[in-house]
Amino acid sequence: MSYDLLEYEVSDNIATITLNRPEVRNALSFALIGELHEAVQTADASKDVRVIVIRGAGDHFCSGHDLSERGLRDYVERAPNLECLWEMEEDQYLHKHGLDVWYTDTPTIAEVQGMAVLGGFVLANVCDLIVAGDNAEFWVPALRMYNMGAEVLMEPWVMGHRKAKEFLFTGDRMGAEEALKYGVVNHVVPVAELPAATRELAVKIAKQPRIALKLAKRAINKTLDAQGFREAMEQAFLLHVIGHGTAAFQEELWKPMLKKVDESGFSSYLAERDEK
Ligand code: ZN
Repeated sequence: MSYDLLEYEVSDNIATITLNRPEVRNALSFALIGELHEAVQTADASKDVRVIVIRGAGDHFCSGHDLSERGLRDYVERAPNLECLWEMEEDQYLHKHGLDVWYTDTPTIAEVQGMAVLGGFVLANVCDLIVAGDNAEFWVPALRMYNMGAEVLMEPWVMGHRKAKEFLFTGDRMGAEEALKYGVVNHVVPVAELPAATRELAVKIAKQPRIALKLAKRAINKTLDAQGFREAMEQAFLLHVIGHGTAAFQEELWKPMLKKVDESGFSSYLAERDEK
């Protein structure tokens, strides 16, 4: 498999996957999600790989799902009604860049600089470890988009339920130091040193036997599953899908947005929205 939208490289038993759409802050188009899924599964199946690092090219880790005009049109094409939307979001968002990453046997590290927004927040947080640059910011402004959160509700598991509620209710951004305080990230380093610091951690982990890493990861993930992780994820995802079907979402956000985009393009929609 060759990749157009990401870089895939293996050295020293470490697979490095670099999302490579810096011009759109590594927005997760369907094409990029497909390549990411392929790369993660390939690395996970490879006997040479003991750690997977996921990172983004440019100044930001990932801006989330692709909401450009093209991205929106692709989405509408795949989700003309709620039943198609449910199937599509389950496949693309709940599984491909969500739980499929979480449930790999190989330890994963997200290297986060700049923004990790919505789907980008999910991608960072379904990795086992996060190393953050001191300019990292986590942001899930889902409620102002008339929904409860992104498709994969990692917040209560990675920052505790009380902070998770504040984070979602307010839609405030969480900076690197606050993320460290709440245990969302493992380390914060000056952004200039981020790739080296991530590499150092990956090299240390890659010295462990592959089977032992698999056993340890499986054991901890099973511990969380025993506490209801998997069940809670499925339930929260269904609530998210209901969110897309509500009259408030449809009438106040989605339909007016698509109408405006159809009439005069996406940038004119954004200009009008931001004026308010
Ligand atoms: Zn959704």
